[in-house]
Amino acid sequence: MCRAWHSEPHHGCRPSRPRRPRPGQGLATWLAVLTLALTLLADSTAAANAPMRSPQGPAQHVLLISVDGLRPDALKYAPRLSQLLGESAYDLAAKTVVPSVTLVAHASMLTGVGPDRHGITWNSYQPRRGYVRAPTALALARQAGLKAALFTSKEKLKHLAPPGSVDHLEVHLRAPALADAALAYLHQERPNLLVVHFQEVDGNGHLHGWLSPEYQQAVVVVDQAIGRLLDEVRSRSDERWAVIITADHGGHGRTHGTTQAEDILIPWIAWGAGIRPGRLQGVRVTDTAATALALLGVPVPSHMAGRPVFGPTAAARSASDGQAPVSRPAAAR
Ligand SMILES: [Zn+2]
Repeated sequence: MCRAWHSEPHHGCRPSRPRRPRPGQGLATWLAVLTLALTLLADSTAAANAPMRSPQGPAQHVLLISVDGLRPDALKYAPRLSQLLGESAYDLAAKTVVPSVTLVAHASMLTGVGPDRHGITWNSYQPRRGYVRAPTALALARQAGLKAALFTSKEKLKHLAPPGSVDHLEVHLRAPALADAALAYLHQERPNLLVVHFQEVDGNGHLHGWLSPEYQQAVVVVDQAIGRLLDEVRSRSDERWAVIITADHGGHGRTHGTTQAEDILIPWIAWGAGIRPGRLQGVRVTDTAATALALLGVPVPSHMAGRPVFGPTAAARSASDGQAPVSRPAAAR
């Protein structure tokens, strides 16, 4: 705490040269020093044990998973995700933004606004171009005193994490290593908002074609990694977790980015605390940030184009109002 004493003699922790005290002054000085030291200790302890306050929403923790390039009709290759649908609220025809490319769409997913507002108009890692211009859900959660972390498999997502906007950022290319790192962090830090982004599905789409056998195998690999995260969250029955699983875009042939349905339509699945299972409709990728914040009880800024999928303002979105929760999802067949 006061390691700065030696490098910064005027820091105030200790007088640089002791003077002969007047009667009573010595005690007062050292009491002041003790008070300051205790204050600094309290501050540093609070910082180390962030979050400083607990979430006020239905969920204490939100795990947001993005499967890069996952088309809704590829869920049939993902047994864990297919199984989860039966307990989830979901829209298998949710829409992403145009252009339907990774960095632009993730910026919209995490900020709740379109490219015209978040300013990310490129799709590669170009450090000189700086950061997203709109606050991300991670930054807003952190501002609210919660702990937020981003685990990604593409370095370009660093454009979405301006300094001070996340408590932690890690990049791992492969799904198993990414899941390992996210799980280790989850164990140790118990973040309130944990974003995990997997690249394999998109990568194999570009190399071998969307829905090709290699693409299907990548869905299996990512599904297994997601399954490990889901198992961990489910095992934490004393913590209220919500999980959102979605994608940045789909794909066709060996590419994506257009306005056609194969590129624009994405799965959007939510499970856990604060979520009523059933089918949804009209969900947009920009709703993701607002929903994550609302689940955590963090106020959703009025500038956001996206709105929370759950809660009073979202009732019109539910396709299953007044009906029994969907027990057997169509996509699992
Ligand atoms: Zn791609």
